[in-house]
Formats: sequence, structure tokens, C-alpha cells
Amino acid sequence: MSMSGTLFIVPTPIGNLSDISSRALQILNDVDIIAAEDTRHSGRLLSHYAIQTATLSLHDHNESARAQQLIEKLKQGKSIALISDAGTPLISDPGYVFVRECRLAKLHVVALPGPCALTTALSASGLPTDRFTFRGFLPIKQMAKGDILQSLSNSGTTTIFYEAPRRIRDTIEACSKYLQTNHQIVLAKELTKTFETFKYGCADEILAWLDADPVHQKGEFVIMIYCPNNLQKGDVSPEAIALLKSLAEELPLKKAAAITAKHYGLKKNTLYNLGLDLKGD
Ligand code: SAM
Repeated sequence: MSMSGTLFIVPTPIGNLSDISSRALQILNDVDIIAAEDTRHSGRLLSHYAIQTATLSLHDHNESARAQQLIEKLKQGKSIALISDAGTPLISDPGYVFVRECRLAKLHVVALPGPCALTTALSASGLPTDRFTFRGFLPIKQMAKGDILQSLSNSGTTTIFYEAPRRIRDTIEACSKYLQTNHQIVLAKELTKTFETFKYGCADEILAWLDADPVHQKGEFVIMIYCPNNLQKGDVSPEAIALLKSLAEELPLKKAAAITAKHYGLKKNTLYNLGLDLKGD
């Protein structure tokens, strides 16, 4: 029987301190070490629940080295809980390197379910939940941000982003530039906290709301964007045309058309003929 300890991944509240499970509290009490993103920040949660377990930092800047130290401890039979500043570790938070290394070392990893801003926001958004994509934080650079927002057109899914207060206005302004009026946005702000707010509308309406009062731009945000798929059967989206064009630079048109058709569920002939037209342009 293995004498190694267990790594527990423990979600913590995203605002409301009561949103922690009794199993999570039990594990935080029982483990030998709590690896926390910011030990001072997590100290407030731990002291609120009178948890005295020793803490060690594990953040983006020390994760590789710290992971090796913690793996040694797991191999010695110690148990460890991984927490982040808020919500589920690894979800736009540190922990991936550590968990991957634990898996490679065949150590026992147990994840607890719990608070996460993206699932909390999505479940109350009223937007389609059957297919969704989580993209974390958008890039800061305008061009990269614009490229991602434009690529959402006709996706037929809900896409979820996290955003910080200092960038929320800029990001919604970019949405107003790159999205269309039939793209529905839901902004979830300060989830589980006293001033929790959901705002619905197109980008211009959300921008007007943010500008109406500086207080509206303060807090933590989840942005959800639903872009209906308005393509008719046989229509070729700008993304499919872009793929066809770049593949056709490297491959015979027949092959480029076949790959693009497979990727976008389109007819090979349509793409082949379009490719001939594009060549003629
Ligand atoms: N691991 C966390 C989770 O499970 O959701 C996310 C950590 S990420 C560094 C922090 C971002 O999550 C914030 O900038 C915000 O976009 C989102 N977030 C966290 N708490 C939130 C809350 N109470 N309300 C709205 N968004 C929140």
C-alpha cells in the first residue's frame, strides 16, 4: 500500500465567507500543510474559521520550485490542501504546474467541488448553458482583444471572460466596437456579495450603464457573451474563409477545401469553388 499523502484541491469563497463546505473546513483543519496563493490573504479566511494549519505560499512566481518541495512532502506521507485567494484553484489561478507534477509522480489528488465565479455567473445568467467556452482574462492589447471578440461571431455558444475593475470599461468598449447588436452580454458583478448585480444588454447598453456612475465600474466582474449562429446552411463564415486562404497558401486547393469543410461542417465543393473565386480576385 502507498504511504504517500494526498493533495486536496479546496475551493474557497468568492465573496461570501459562508460559501465553504463543512468537508472543505474539515480538510483544511486536518491536513499537514495548506499551500496558499497569498498566505496573508488566506490567513483572514483561516482565522475566521479558527484553522491553525501551517501555510506555505504557492503562486505564479514560485510554483515550479515550490511544487518540487511539496511533492517531496507528499511522498513522505504528508497531506496538503491547495487553496487560492478565492474560488477554485487552477481556474485563472495558480496550481496547474503542481497538479500536473503530482499526476506525473502518480500521487493521490482529490478535488473538492465548490465556489467558482464562472459557474456561479453562468448558472444565473439566463444565457444558453448547453455549450460554453471559458476564456479567462482577455489580452490587454487592443488588437489581440479585438481578434478574440471578432472570432466569437456565429459561434452559437456562450463565452465567458473574467475582468478586473481597472479594465472593465475598456473591455466593454472593445465589445461595442467588435461585437454586433444581436450579441447578448450579461455582466455579473460582485457575485455572492452585498452588491451583487447582473446587467443585461448589448455592448452599448452595458457601456452606458458603466458610465452612468463610477461606482458601477468598481468590483469584480464576469462577462458572458452569447453570439447566436446566424449562418444559413452553406454560408461560409469569415473564419472559414480565413482558414481556407491560409491553408491554400501551403496546400493544393482541393486539400485546403477538404480540411476547411471538415472543420466547419461545410460542403467541400462550396469551399473549392470559393477558393477558385478567391484566387481570381
Ligand atoms: N479561481 C477563481 C474562480 O474560481 O472563479 C478566479 C480567480 S481570478 C484570479 C479572479 C477573477 O475572477 C476576478 O478578476 C473576476 O473576474 C472573477 N471573480 C472572482 N470573484 C468574483 C466575484 N465575487 N464576482 C464576480 N467575479 C468574480
